[in-house]
Order: sequence, then C-alpha cells, then structure tokens
Amino acid sequence: MLRSAILAAARSNRVERLVESAPVSRSIVRRFIAGEHADDALACTRDLVADGLAVTIDFLGEDTTNPQQAEATRDEYIKLLDALHAAELTPAAEVSLKLSALGQVFDEKLAYEHARAICAKATEAGTTVTLDAEDHTTTDSTLEVLARLRADFPTTGAVVQSYLRRTEADCRELAVSGSRVRLCKGAYNEPESVAYQRRLDVDKSYVRCLNVLMSGAGHPMIATHDPRLVAIGEDRAKWFDRTPDEFEFQMLYGVRPDEQRRLAELGYTVRVYLPYGTQWYAYMMRRLAERPANLAFFARALRSKG
Ligand SMILES: Cc1cc2nc3c(=O)[nH]c(=O)nc-3n(C[C@H](O)[C@H](O)[C@H](O)COP(=O)(O)OP(=O)(O)OC[C@H]3O[C@@H](n4cnc5c(N)ncnc54)[C@H](O)[C@@H]3O)c2cc1C
Repeated sequence: MLRSAILAAARSNRVERLVESAPVSRSIVRRFIAGEHADDALACTRDLVADGLAVTIDFLGEDTTNPQQAEATRDEYIKLLDALHAAELTPAAEVSLKLSALGQVFDEKLAYEHARAICAKATEAGTTVTLDAEDHTTTDSTLEVLARLRADFPTTGAVVQSYLRRTEADCRELAVSGSRVRLCKGAYNEPESVAYQRRLDVDKSYVRCLNVLMSGAGHPMIATHDPRLVAIGEDRAKWFDRTPDEFEFQMLYGVRPDEQRRLAELGYTVRVYLPYGTQWYAYMMRRLAERPANLAFFARALRSKG
C-alpha cells in the first residue's frame, strides 16, 4: 500500500516540485547518489574501484519527452565514457542506461540509434553498457532494441525483473553464451495482470529465474540486497561450478555497503550501481518505496530542515 503510494508519487510532477524545493540536506540525496556532475561520479568510482568493487554508472533521467533532451543524454554518456577511459577506470566501470532517457517513449528508432552510439563509444573505451529495465509497457521494446544492439555489441547487458510473470521465459531466451543478464526484483508499480504482487511470489520467481540463469551459458548479474537471495546466489554458484569471473553480484550505491565489501573480500565480483545527475527525484522515490525505514529518515530530514 505504502509502496504503491510512493511509486505513484514518483510519477507526479506536483510532488516532484514539492520534494525538490524542500530544503532537504544534500547529504540525504548523497547517500544514494554520487553527485550532480560526471566528475562526482568519477571520484566516487575511483574510491569504489580502489576498494575492490566494480561499478556501473547511471546518468539520472528518464521519460525524456523531446529529441533535444535525448541527444543531450547521449552526449553526456559519450563524455562520461571518454572520461572513464582517460582515468583508466575501464573495464572496472561500465554504464547503465535507460532507453526512456534516450527517447524510447516517442521514437524507438531514435533511442536505438543513441544507444548504438553509446555502445560504440563504450567498446572504444574498453567497457560495456547495460540497458536498465523500466515499467512493463517498455519490456518488449527494450528487449528488441537489446537484440539489435547485441548483433554488433554482444556484451550489451540485459535487465530482467522477477516480479513480472513473463521473466522466467525471458531468462530462458537470454541464458545463452556471452549474454550478460542482470536479475533484479523490479522497482515499478505494476498491475496484477502482469506482475506478482506478493513479496513471497516475487522472491520465488527470483529463485526460479536465478536457477535458469546460473545453469545456463550466459553471465548472470545477481542484483539484490536481500540476504536470503545473496546466500542462494552463492549456493548456486558453487552448485553450477561457476568461477568468480563467470557471474557477479550487484548492489546499489549507498545500500548495504558493508555487505558489498564483505562479498568482494570473499573474492566475488561485486558491481555497485552508481547514479549521478540532477534528476534524482524518481530514482530517490523508488529507493524510498523499497524500504519504509528510508522514508522515515527522509521525512525526519525534511522536517528538521524545513
Ligand atoms: C544493481 C541494481 C540494479 C538495478 N536495476 C534495476 C532496473 O534496471 N530496473 C528495475 O526495475 N529495478 C532495478 N533495481 C532495483 C530492484 O528491482 C529492487 O527494487 C531493489 O534492488 C530492492 O530489491 P532487493 O532485491 O534489494 O530486495 P528487498 O526485498 O527490497 O530488500 C531486501 C533487503 O535489502 C535492504 N534494502 C533493499 N533496498 C534498500 C534500500 N533502498 N535502502 C536500504 N536498504 C535496502 C533491506 O535490508 C531489505 O530488507 C536494481 C537493483 C540493483 C541492486
């Protein structure tokens, strides 16, 4: 109930204006976000890599409504990839991108072409790209764009969401040689017709999808902070005899950082999803929806600064 309300607010321009104009201390947002500029992401990446972690960087922004904005997003990624390469942070750092930020909503072809330019730059920079999963109305389009990109850039990563009823079947399609697949639970407000609603059903689906990916020929990327699912991931890696370079764990910047380091110290590849940019509102709201304790923390900060 609370989760749905927060996720609905994540799509409201009115609430966005209210939250963004509230005098929330930057340190709250900074808990989950590197900062507003590419330099902030670079500095954060350097620290994470020095700690033995891998990184995937997301330039914040989604639901782009005009071609100029889509082009600006493409250019930002290209600049970022040049900077990562110059700083010798590739291949430890890759990038994650949302097709909706590249114009998917109004022109899928344009989004594909921008994504293609970013993939070409990533290859030149010695790294790769993962296409984030967004709400279920975009899943078919995103998987189609992914398939086209993979024809030229085979390491382009997919993301699947275990809350969607279709995902186990998608995993079977994607669990092929060389295929990088991030498995997450899913962060959007989805109807019953397409998505499991009960936490337990989402978790059970996660395990079924994990089994498909870990027993397949691709490179699974286990994206969760859930201790039970992390333990099952470790177990399946042993069962299917996967070496640490044949799968990875992924977690969000600012969420369970001690666990990220613990897993890295055990020798696993752990990739941290690191967002930056000024458009932090929708991302922040999804993080709040995931954990009511974060909401209390956020509300306290709003009150004390207001
Ligand atoms: C690397 C990465 C990439 C992702 N990419 C996508 C994507 O492309 N598309 C998409 O829809 N979703 C994406 N997600 C989000 C994902 O779908 C979930 O919404 C999110 O990870 C919370 O689910 P969980 O598996 O961590 O389990 P949960 O059941 O939500 O949480 C398990 C435990 O983890 C801790 N925890 C979880 N979230 C938080 C938080 N925000 N703050 C503090 N503690 C927390 C708590 O201890 C909690 O009890 C991504 C997640 C990760 C880690």
